[in-house]
Amino acid sequence: MHQIACHECDLIHDIPPMPSRGAACCVRCGSVLFRAQENSIDRTLAWTIAGLVLYVVGVSFPFLAMKNGPISNETGLLTGIQLLFDQGIIPLATLVLLTCVLIPLLQMLGLLYIFIPLKLNIRVKYAVPVFRLFKHIKPWSMMEIYMLGILVSIVKLGKMATIVPGLAVIAFGLLIFVLSFALSAVDEHMVWEKLGEDS
Ligand SMILES: [Zn+2]
Repeated sequence: MHQIACHECDLIHDIPPMPSRGAACCVRCGSVLFRAQENSIDRTLAWTIAGLVLYVVGVSFPFLAMKNGPISNETGLLTGIQLLFDQGIIPLATLVLLTCVLIPLLQMLGLLYIFIPLKLNIRVKYAVPVFRLFKHIKPWSMMEIYMLGILVSIVKLGKMATIVPGLAVIAFGLLIFVLSFALSAVDEHMVWEKLGEDS
């Protein structure tokens, strides 16, 4: 049993274990508190593993190639961030590093750390603080915005040299969707229920 506050009117409810696909509504204003998700564990794990594969492709393959006559220059995401640091553009470099590299990785590792033990029905240390942290960094994943920024600069650079987007651009583009599917498959209520079972 845990408590949840209504998003609309802030009334606190005690939530009993929910049937699959059941929805809980506020007793005062009737708004939906949350919906229990079907196969949440399997779907979260599947999307997260797919996301990790895309992530590895995204950081290890070239992000873009710049062709200026006979000269061709390939840049990976990490090299690009390194270049930003070298040029002293520290705030942008830090933001890209956080939003495109560190936060998605932390989110996916956090999901695996919580959901693999849930799937196997085993207990791991620090699952509760890890899930709290995971919920905390959720709003800070702004990959989409920075990917958009990168695409805009690719278009701008395209006027100076021929820009060929690399495999990493496709991988990161897909990762944005896959990660959001993974996050939406997380059934928070079910996780708290399971984590709290024998704590
Ligand atoms: Zn309400």
